[in-house]
Amino acid sequence: MNKYDSNKIISYLLKSSKNYILVNSLLKSNIIILNTCSVRQKAQDKLFNYLNKIKNIKINNPNLILLVGGCVATQEKEKLFLKFKYIDIIFGPQNIKDIFFLINDFIKYKKKIIKIDFNNKINKDINFFLKDKNYINNTYVTIMEGCNKFCSYCIVPYTRGKQISRDPMSIISEICYLSNKGISEVNLLGQNVTAYSSFLSNGKKCNFSYLLNLISEIDGIKRIRFITSHPNDFTKDIISCYKNNNKIMDFLHLPVQSGSDRILKIMKRNYTINFYKKIIYKLLCIRPKMIFSSDFIIGFPTESDYDFRLTLDLINDVKFDNSYAFLYSPRKGTKSYDMKNDISLLKKKNRLYMVQDLLYKNSIYWNKKILNSKQEILVEGLTKKNDFYYGRCSNNKIIYLKKKKHINLIGKIIKVNILYEKNNFLYGKFNYNI
Ligand code: SAH
Ligand code: SF4
Repeated sequence: MNKYDSNKIISYLLKSSKNYILVNSLLKSNIIILNTCSVRQKAQDKLFNYLNKIKNIKINNPNLILLVGGCVATQEKEKLFLKFKYIDIIFGPQNIKDIFFLINDFIKYKKKIIKIDFNNKINKDINFFLKDKNYINNTYVTIMEGCNKFCSYCIVPYTRGKQISRDPMSIISEICYLSNKGISEVNLLGQNVTAYSSFLSNGKKCNFSYLLNLISEIDGIKRIRFITSHPNDFTKDIISCYKNNNKIMDFLHLPVQSGSDRILKIMKRNYTINFYKKIIYKLLCIRPKMIFSSDFIIGFPTESDYDFRLTLDLINDVKFDNSYAFLYSPRKGTKSYDMKNDISLLKKKNRLYMVQDLLYKNSIYWNKKILNSKQEILVEGLTKKNDFYYGRCSNNKIIYLKKKKHINLIGKIIKVNILYEKNNFLYGKFNYNI
């Protein structure tokens, strides 16, 4: 979402005035905008290290304007000004459209500015990105923002604010625009996309499954993905979409966080592993080839060896592919912040390695499953050395193809034969003659 927001910032500024250009060097720039994440302490530390690193650039260039936005800005507010005196403007995740005016005010009045609002009319925004080169790889479209769930460890509801869904027509307009630019795959984005809830212009309710079906009516859109879903909102009608809508891909990222019901309860996730597994099984009945990935928090306060074992068992059962596993990071202001955590760092790290090792094995397992098969991929780009194309199968596996001179496959959906696997990379062959 931050990547999407950063692109939105670039687009708005370039569109607001011809005086803005994007430069590729800090030394050449006279405005620096840092868009930040605070979901874990590490992300926040990254910002602080970066601010220390650019201190001299700012001091040596008195005309340089430094902005800090995003979730760390919401969380730290004025404290950021005290800690880093050379920051000029602080803005919240929902104040992207204000940046142009904030910069103008700063130039005019030479006074530090802080602007953090929630629910700032994002629902009617249409985000038309200007930079052509972004189109192929950047097909993300925000459909909702914020979260009402308040899991005990999570800072997101405090930094991103209450859940707000975008107007369905503004989403459809944005996707039609992308489709006219040649985009054939969209990735719908939100903290909990499955909780999407809005209204059509005729007053009828539009939930996530309705939105999925609306989007699939756009001819040029051939593939639909979304991230992130919440198990509690993964209702029957969404499951049915997998039956009736073949534009939805054979892949689902469904964060579970832990394999232990006891830990899930303390996390305030409000589901059990049995409930979670039922969703997976129902989907597998409809789409036997579907692959799942998830998020795991390792070393949550009171996580015992037994709780952890249950997480490993779940990873083994569902055979999660390519998932995200991180150590628990206490976030100030959340319910679990003050919980005593007496698991040693060494033990937590060992658990994390075990999870990552198992996930790696699962990934190899899924790679092997599609060896020698024919798969449809959307070619997304070229590797750095320009010698291989890469593209994604319906199940999200990435396939590499040797490039042939003068033939541009980027943006095309093609059929490839999966030939071999090496170091967790899959290689395929495309018949360039047809
Ligand atoms: N809304 C989604 C996830 C969005 S946050 C869901 O609940 O399913 C993305 C991920 O960050 C979470 O799934 C969780 O695994 C991780 N995360 C959030 N807070 C964290 C914390 N305090 N420590 C470690 N990981 C955290
Ligand atoms: Fe955070 Fe997701 Fe829980 Fe919301 S549902 S509080 S975003 S982990």
